[in-house]
This record gives sequence, structure tokens and C-alpha cells, in this order.
Amino acid sequence: MTTTLPLDLATTAQVSQSASTPARAIVQLCELVKAYEDMPVLRGINLELARGEMVALLGPNGSGKSTLLKLLAGLIKPTAGRVVIGGWELPRESVQVRAQIGLVSHKLLLYEGLTARENLMFFAQLYNLSRSEALKRVEQLLAQVGLSARADDVVRSFSRGMQQRLSIARALVHNPSILLLDEPYTGLDQDASASLDVLLRSARVQGHTILMVTHQIEHAAQLADRLLILSRGVIAWEGRGGENGSITGDELARRYTQVTGLASLREHEE
Ligand code: ADP
Ligand code: MG
Repeated sequence: MTTTLPLDLATTAQVSQSASTPARAIVQLCELVKAYEDMPVLRGINLELARGEMVALLGPNGSGKSTLLKLLAGLIKPTAGRVVIGGWELPRESVQVRAQIGLVSHKLLLYEGLTARENLMFFAQLYNLSRSEALKRVEQLLAQVGLSARADDVVRSFSRGMQQRLSIARALVHNPSILLLDEPYTGLDQDASASLDVLLRSARVQGHTILMVTHQIEHAAQLADRLLILSRGVIAWEGRGGENGSITGDELARRYTQVTGLASLREHEE
């Protein structure tokens, strides 16, 4: 957990909310390449996300999953290729793009010494919501993430699962079209994971497009409409998930082994 606020967030706050987004695909990646120094990590990603879709991204450690999320969030720049989000192109229009993105990364970006409500009020006002709008939005989010009863308790006293849910509320404060989550099940027990599932389903019902990096095959297979495996710098496999049982966790694990050449995805569970 960090108590410093990245400048990127402060910049985003200056932008008005939801831009006009005519395209059906809210995210379009074309031959996206990202190299650090001379080391290519993403070698040509082609991907479209439809509005309202829930997508799970799997892949070995170091395969570039977090890099892809940071690129989409406009926090880092692509080396080559096109990234269009809601009609805005990166890196040129990164300020507009960031206004449409809520990112939940390993850093939860919460202030431990503030209460849940104070944290959300802080971020709401950072995003230029008026005080009355902010108050309304914050109560709504606290209810959505199941923290209304703990609104006046300091974050330091929260369990990992509660902090994770508050962090999702923080990411949703400006009502972004797209929610990006980087290994959100990390450190959660079974109950907290189940609560997270409920919360992600509700975010989806509200129309947020969700891209979630995870090693949790069971959750991925059940929750996500679409499953992607990132391997050797490209989307090496794509399949359907979801509640109609298109693929089971075991089938997905087998597929993962086949595609990545790794013995098991369970080796590096969150
Ligand atoms: P994943 O999230 O799939 O585990 P990452 O996107 O974090 O993978 O990292 C992909 C690769 O890029 C790794 O080899 C990692 O060491 C490297 N990498 C990530 N961030 C940086 C950076 N800022 N500078 C140099 N190399 C980086
Ligand atoms: Mg990562």
C-alpha cells in the first residue's frame, strides 16, 4: 500500500468525464509492441474489447500482463503499434484515455490513516466532482462494495479483502468505461474472493468493460466472457468462458500448459 499519489492520477483529474465513444470496440490494439531498453516484452498484440465485455488475461510471470495494463491505462508509452480507447489514441490523447480508465494494480492507492469514506471523497474531489455529487457517488460506491457499515473506519483496520474492494471503489469513482485489474485475488481468502466475484459481476452489469489479469483459473473460467493467454509477447490463445460453462477450470489449465509450455498454471497462483 502506498500513501503517495501518482501525478498521473492528478492529471487525469483535470479531464472531464466520459468522452464520446462511437466505436463498438471500446479498446482496439493493433500490432502493439512494447520493449524495455532493447528487450521486447509485447511483440505485436492484436486485440479488440467490446463494450461491456469481461475479459480475463492469463500468462506466465514476466510475460507482460502488467505492462499491457499499464499501456492501456496510459501510464507507459507503446514502442510501436496502435492503441485506441473509446476513440482516443495513445499516446497522443493519453489524458482523455485516462479519464475512461480505472486501474486496480498491486498498489491499492489508499490512505491507511483515512476512513473508507474519506478516501473515496478525496479521490472523487480529485476527479473534479462537486461536493454534493461526490457525497452521492461515494455512498453509492460504499454500498456497491459492501463497505457502508465500515465507512467511518480507517483503512488500516481493514482486511485485505476489504482494502481490495475499497480500492475497486476508488478506481470506479470517476465512473470509467473500463476497469483494469491486475491480479485482484492476491492475498484474498475464499470468502473475500467470492465477494470480489460478486463485485466484479455487479460492475459488469453496470456496463463497465473489464480486463482482469489473473492466475485464478477457476474464477477466470467462470467469470469472464473471454479468456486470453499471453505468451512469448503475443496473444497465443483465446477462448470463451462464462457461466454457461464454455470451458471448465481444468480444461483451461490444460490449455494453458499446452500454449505456454509450462507444467501448470497452479505453480504461480496469486
Ligand atoms: P507480468 O505482469 O506478466 O508478470 P510484467 O509486465 O510485469 O510481466 O513484465 C514483463 C517483463 O518486462 C519482465 O521481464 C519485466 O522484468 C520487464 N519489465 C517490466 N517493467 C519494466 C521496466 N520498467 N523496465 C525494464 N523492464 C521491465
Ligand atoms: Mg504482473
